[in-house]
Amino acid sequence: MSGVALFVFIDAFGWELLKAHLHFLEGELVHRSRLESVLGYSSTCDPTILTGQMPQDHGHFSFFYYNPAESPFGICRLLRFLPKSITRRGRVRRILSRILKRFYGYTGYFQIYNMPFEYLHLFDYSEKRDLYQPGGINSGSRTIFDDLRDEGVPFHLSDWRAPEESNLASLRSALGEGKIRFAYLYMAAMDAILHDDGRVSERVDAKIAWYDQQIRRVLEVARSRYKEVRLYIFSDHGMTDTKETCPLMARIEALGMTFGEDYVAVYDSTMARFWFLKPGARERILEALAQEPRGRIMHPADLANYGCRFPGNKYGEVFFLLDPGVLLCPSFMGEKALKGMHGFDPADKDTDAMFASNVEPLVVPRRLDDLYKLMKQEADSIKQTAP
Ligand SMILES: [Zn+2]
Repeated sequence: MSGVALFVFIDAFGWELLKAHLHFLEGELVHRSRLESVLGYSSTCDPTILTGQMPQDHGHFSFFYYNPAESPFGICRLLRFLPKSITRRGRVRRILSRILKRFYGYTGYFQIYNMPFEYLHLFDYSEKRDLYQPGGINSGSRTIFDDLRDEGVPFHLSDWRAPEESNLASLRSALGEGKIRFAYLYMAAMDAILHDDGRVSERVDAKIAWYDQQIRRVLEVARSRYKEVRLYIFSDHGMTDTKETCPLMARIEALGMTFGEDYVAVYDSTMARFWFLKPGARERILEALAQEPRGRIMHPADLANYGCRFPGNKYGEVFFLLDPGVLLCPSFMGEKALKGMHGFDPADKDTDAMFASNVEPLVVPRRLDDLYKLMKQEADSIKQTAP
């Protein structure tokens, strides 16, 4: 009988939330600590976890970036004449996302969200390929799964498209067979509950209790087949309760400049990113941003500190980040104000992710990129003890 390392990813299970639920896996966890997240959303965090690189090195940040020459969305311009009553519908947008995804053969997480149809042809999309499969990272960087494949470590990987119940069931059955030595369990359903309800909610409490129960079941199966079960649980970011909304888009539109001619912007849920196309546009937009008290223009040194100085300013020449708890709304991500959001300054406590384990880790991960190092260490030590 050998050992197995279980890495359990729970989307949006932040450090503050874990501190409020210290009974979570009580008696199992011997280590719990805060884990610094990275600037951005899951689309930024997940590649950092898988590669151990900062965003500017793996090349993933937000989904949309200005790139009219290579935009796959030219066809969407035709839809700009449809009435808003149709195009604003989530269902219509989800169906269209599915059609585009199939048409282009994208394997990544693909959603057009609330992007305006009249501007979509100006943008390219950053997650066209499945991050978890070979060649999924924009920079061509390797992920922990590439390492495991190369090193011949038998592993199990969840399907990120599948519901949590089926991911749990397939992990239990892989453990039951006793052949794998490493597993990555992907669970992303709590993120939506936290967006809908905020952090203090009975549904959140129930979900955490459910995770507790499910992970205990996994441990039970694992212990029946393995001598040692090393469990590591972590998230990608936390969740911040929404205090107020900020209509930043209206402030920029009031300048009377033309989108796509004078400037281009992406309005994410917590930040706006700008590209300037005509002289004078930068100055006018910076001046308007300076008048918004609930956020700040990110200094290049700030962006460098967060590993977000992208070559060629791929994701924007200027980033404006809202204060924790201030939701950019309406935005290109949605029109509805959500009760919880992530994607604020990584220095804010509510953005912190968490790390917990049932063994004392050799090196305690401090930031998301350290998770890769920990997984690599486990993979290397498994390889050394392979029969
Ligand atoms: Zn989310």
